[in-house]
Amino acid sequence: MQTQAEGSLKRVFRDNALKATPQRLDVLKLLMTSGEHLDAEEIYKRLLKKKKNVSRATIYRTLEVLVEYDFVRKLDFADGRMRYEQNQNPDEHHDHMVCQVCGKVFEFFNPQIEALQEAIAQEINFQMLSHTMHIYGICSACGDSADPVA
Ligand SMILES: [Zn+2]
Ligand SMILES: [Zn+2]
Repeated sequence: MQTQAEGSLKRVFRDNALKATPQRLDVLKLLMTSGEHLDAEEIYKRLLKKKKNVSRATIYRTLEVLVEYDFVRKLDFADGRMRYEQNQNPDEHHDHMVCQVCGKVFEFFNPQIEALQEAIAQEINFQMLSHTMHIYGICSACGDSADPVA
């Protein structure tokens, strides 16, 4: 049985002249529904848990294709593990704050920061195509636990 969401996903693939293989659908659906920033190993484990017929090699290959076709965004949080998230529309752009203690990723969007970047680029006649901003630090939960309660 095919869900409505799956039907429209298949249409998106078709519009992009990309074959909607079960693996591609599974990986994209997982990233869409979880809304998280997962690495390939985590994606592999979660699909295994869902009793999907996948191998690590397939996951890596599938992710590369999905990134190439802009379905998925590849993120480097500088800890040696590439993370993947579903690629939103350009008007749903967001940036990231990454906790260096627990690894939790927070998404944020600030129109003033976005506008400022545009202005700086314009000043030097630079055509901005995209940007990536990751802010590293310590989240409130980890900061609190490091701080002994008086
Ligand atoms: Zn934390
Ligand atoms: Zn994100």
